[in-house]
Amino acid sequence: MKKNIYRLIALLLIVQIGYFAYSFLFDQDKEIISSESDIVQLEEEVIPEKKDRIEKVEITEGTTFGKLMEENGIRASSYMDIYDSSLDLYDLVKIRLGRFIELVYDKDTDEFKELRYKINTEDELHVRNTKYIESENMASSSDELVDHSWVAEIIPIPYDIELVSKGGTVESSVYMAAINNGIDERAIIDMANAFQWSIDFAMDPRVGDTFKLLYEERSLEGEYIMPGRIFAGVYVNDGTEHYVYYFEESEDNKGFFDKDGNSVQKMFLKAPLEFRYISSGYTPGNRVVLSIGLSGPHRAIDYAAPIGTPIRTVGDGTVTFAGWSSVGYGYLTSIRHNGTYSTNYAHQSKLGVRVGQKVKQGDVIGYVGSTGYSTGPHLHYEMLKNGAKIDPLKEVLPPGKPIKEENKERFFELVEEYNKKLNI
Ligand SMILES: [Zn+2]
Repeated sequence: MKKNIYRLIALLLIVQIGYFAYSFLFDQDKEIISSESDIVQLEEEVIPEKKDRIEKVEITEGTTFGKLMEENGIRASSYMDIYDSSLDLYDLVKIRLGRFIELVYDKDTDEFKELRYKINTEDELHVRNTKYIESENMASSSDELVDHSWVAEIIPIPYDIELVSKGGTVESSVYMAAINNGIDERAIIDMANAFQWSIDFAMDPRVGDTFKLLYEERSLEGEYIMPGRIFAGVYVNDGTEHYVYYFEESEDNKGFFDKDGNSVQKMFLKAPLEFRYISSGYTPGNRVVLSIGLSGPHRAIDYAAPIGTPIRTVGDGTVTFAGWSSVGYGYLTSIRHNGTYSTNYAHQSKLGVRVGQKVKQGDVIGYVGSTGYSTGPHLHYEMLKNGAKIDPLKEVLPPGKPIKEENKERFFELVEEYNKKLNI
């Protein structure tokens, strides 16, 4: 009998403790909420919205898409479905070393629901679990198991874009001047490409040259990523002003135009090597050794560059010679551009074209070497006019195609806007 009383007391005690514990944990909260509801309401307003959890997984040496998914606990049935559903848009076998795969986990369920991968600098692959796409669209989401399939799409990377105007003065090289003024080297390469018909960045730049550039800077979540489009630029070379303005006259005609509305594209590029290969900036303090011999028998420009540097044809044309020269040029390519002009590219390590081949301006036709009578790796470049060697840098070429009359007003308005932003 006594035993039963003890049991009853013990039971009551447990219930009591349980009640206290319960009220301590929950009721108390209720009281706080009711007595300080104003504060709580305020707090609720600043409580950050729940966010999906995103895991960034780096693609490392020797890994594969499947391995990577497994290491991150993604079931084979899911990642194989992801692979299949995105195959038409992107083959996930081709994911690149050093890039990232983003795994998105739902803010409410913490379930893996989306895979993201930046395919290139512009586009991102998103593969989403259809279950979550539906629940986003419907007011009430049910946890009922729907058919778990995945849907892939490619979307533009949502960069934050800032338009910036930056410039500099050349003290040692264009490259260093740009870097010292906070210009991304990719933007400076783009700028050089816009001026490649008017400036030979190996031969022309002088100390005291100035330049300005109007372009986009792209960032993601506050972190600078890369430069975007270039809209305008000015380069003052030895006192001569060169301008470029990006303009889309029509779907078929977009690109850079000069101040007067003529396309900056001309019959010949100023240099047979790209800026990024001739820029002394890539080997600071070690200026590219150049010699120019436009009198006497050696009438040519010599561009010092490492063996293997791609050589491009300065203009459209037909290859008239590609082989070993018997007169000391080593491996030589000759290109006939029209009835008047031809160009020669000598001492190559490797030829890139064959006789009779048609080439387009900028095509790689061979690689820098030191074959034939050569004292070190360099490109010996000659231009001939009616069979006589000339100085290609001094040759005045006809201006590029102008913008149509009916589009000029639109162009000049844009020029004015860009000049304001460039502060010129
Ligand atoms: Zn030479």
